[in-house]
Order: sequence, then structure tokens, then C-alpha cells
Amino acid sequence: MLVPLSSPDLTELEKAAVANVLDTQQLSLGPRLPDFEQSLAAVAGTRFAVAVNSGTSALHLCIRGFGIGPGDEVITTPFSFVASANCILFERAKPIFVDVDPRTFNIDPSAVESAITPRTKALLPVHVFGIPCPLDPLMKIAGDNDLVMIEDSCEAIGATYKGRPVGGIGHAGTFAFYPNKQVTTGEGGALVTNDARLAAMSRSLRNQGRGEDGEWLSHERLGFNYRLSDINCALGTAQLRRLTAILEKRRTVAAIYNNGLHELEEIAPPLLEVQDSTISWFVYVVTLRSEFGGRRERDAILKHLSARGVGCSNYFAPIHLQRFYREQFGYREGQFPIAESVSERTIALPFYNRLSEGEISLVIRELKAAVASVCSGRFQAVGSSTA
Ligand SMILES: *Cc1c(COP(=O)(O)O)cnc(C)c1O
Repeated sequence: MLVPLSSPDLTELEKAAVANVLDTQQLSLGPRLPDFEQSLAAVAGTRFAVAVNSGTSALHLCIRGFGIGPGDEVITTPFSFVASANCILFERAKPIFVDVDPRTFNIDPSAVESAITPRTKALLPVHVFGIPCPLDPLMKIAGDNDLVMIEDSCEAIGATYKGRPVGGIGHAGTFAFYPNKQVTTGEGGALVTNDARLAAMSRSLRNQGRGEDGEWLSHERLGFNYRLSDINCALGTAQLRRLTAILEKRRTVAAIYNNGLHELEEIAPPLLEVQDSTISWFVYVVTLRSEFGGRRERDAILKHLSARGVGCSNYFAPIHLQRFYREQFGYREGQFPIAESVSERTIALPFYNRLSEGEISLVIRELKAAVASVCSGRFQAVGSSTA
């Protein structure tokens, strides 16, 4: 790849932090774990943070910890990474999808209420691509209907809604630290909450169901090994110290992209501003405007970009159309038309902290060439775009 899709931003600070752990005897369950958790709780504005080995594990512990199980329903979005719905399946509960807002790609609160049934236990909105969901209306629905609110903030660390950090607004929130995220620990994740019971339960469940005394061969419940090593935690703490600078760099890269995309009428840039919110830039996803093409043209553009060494992807394929969701629940095309239409036209472009203006120009040049070769001829009759 000439320009990769993503790339972590690691400095001497991170390298020294990891090297220091390797000089100690405590590679896991040592002092770096509570250090990292304290930093995370500070970022989310919560009383507790529980670090685990992935964002998926964090989501699973939320579902398990709130006692959501067989027959229960959880309302969530089909336009997300598959883990945000899989965590519901892990406990034999049922994900109930509702469609998204075509502007933000986030769950549409006005579609949520009609999906509530007597079996609904929780709302699980996702702050997709780092754009905060409208949490006030969602929290109101949760409160009115006695539902648990779990924020999947795995793509949105450091984003705010009405001045408050996302992840810390619902009953629980989750973060993820895979290398393509804003903050990485290699692999890792965390849940954040003000709920002392959920925090204690999660600490037990991540550590083989051990009790709070940590007695090594005493297991009070069925647990998992979802622990995060001190090596990962040290890396994460070092990254969090640089969080403000990291998010600022990403905002700058996004703004440069948006400027450069100005004259490309076939392509809709991502939102740079959202009311009441600050965005934490996770990925830079543009969409092919529907009057210039659909899935076929988008796929051809992706192919063109890849062939020219430009990293790209189709974030996201709708969850309800994944094979095992179709088979288990009978989902089919047409059920969530906005999520489906958007996902047929998305193009994630290279996006990371150190992306240079030269590289951005190259990406835009290649995108223009791709769009010209794929969309011209077929859509020449179309004048200036309206969408
Ligand atoms: C990355 C991500 C996760 C899961 O994180 P992992 O650490 O890869 O398990 C969950 N939900 C969303 C929306 C994500 O983007």
C-alpha cells in the first residue's frame, strides 16, 4: 500500500512505557491496570473503568452484567461493526434493529419507540465513526421505558455530547483499542460506568469469576479470561496522555480532506460539525451520492483505489444482512433502507494522525480519477448534484 487505510501513532513515550513493564515482574494484574483504568475513568467522566482484552469483551460484560439473557430484546443499529450486535447474541438475547439517520448514520431516535416491546431490556446505540448519537432523546426513551442504556463508544473516545464525554452518559459505555482506533493498546477494550455493582461484577467476570479478594482458586461464578496485560495497559496510559493532541491531529486531517473534496460533486464528504457535539475522528468515510451510482460503482471505485495503492474499505456492511443474522432471524434486504443505501455507497479513505498533506492530495487525485472512470459515461446527463 502506498497510503494505508490506518496507522497507529506511537512515540518514544509509548515505547518507554512498554519497556518499563518488561523490566518488572508483573506482566499482568500489576499496577499498570489500575493506572490505565483511572485514566480511562477520567476521560469518560465516570467513577469506574474496567479494562479488558477487547471492545467486544467490554460489550459482552455489559450485557452479562446487566442480566440481559434469553428472550430479552436489545434495540440497536444495523449500521455498525458486527460486535455491537454479536454481544447480544452471546447471551441468547435478541438484537432488534432500527434504521439510522441518513445525515449522521447513527440510530434514529424517532424509530426507536415503536420497536419497544414488553421484552425490551436495553438500548445499545453506537456512536458511529466517532459522531455522538443524540443522547438526550435516547436517554429520555430509556428512562420512560425503564431500559438500560449501553453506549457503544468504541469508535468515539473523547467525543462529547452537550459538553459531556460519550461513554459516560448512559448506564455503561465501552471503548476499544485495536490499532485502527484513535487510542491503541495493541488489543484491548474497557467499559466505563458509575454503577458500582456493574463495575464489581465486570472485574469478577473478566477474571474467571473470582471474588473481590482475588483468591486465585476461588471462583464465585462462571467467568471468562478477559484480562488485559500490564504491557497493554502501560501502552494505553501513554496513549491517553496524548489524547488531546491525537484528537486534534485527526480533526486537522479531516478538515484538509474536506477542503480538498470540494470540487468532487459525485462525493459527499463526512459531517465536520454536529449540533451539541464534538466529534472524535475515527475514520474518514465519504459517500458516493446516490444520483451518481450505487453498490456497483462504489465497489469499482474501491477496486480502482486499491489497485493504485490507496487503502480503502466499505465501512460498514449492514449487520442484519450478514449470513448468520439472515439465517437465524430471517432478515433480508429492504428492511432498513437507509442503512442499506448508505452502506452501498460508503468509501473509507486512508486516515491516521501522521497523514501528510501530500498523501491527502494523492488520495484525492486517485479518488477523482476513480470517480471519473467509473461514473462518467453512465451518469453524464446528471447536472449539478442536489443530494
Ligand atoms: C472496534 C469496535 C468494536 C469492538 O472492538 P474490538 O476491540 O475489535 O473487539 C465494537 N463496536 C464498534 C462500533 C467498533 O468499532
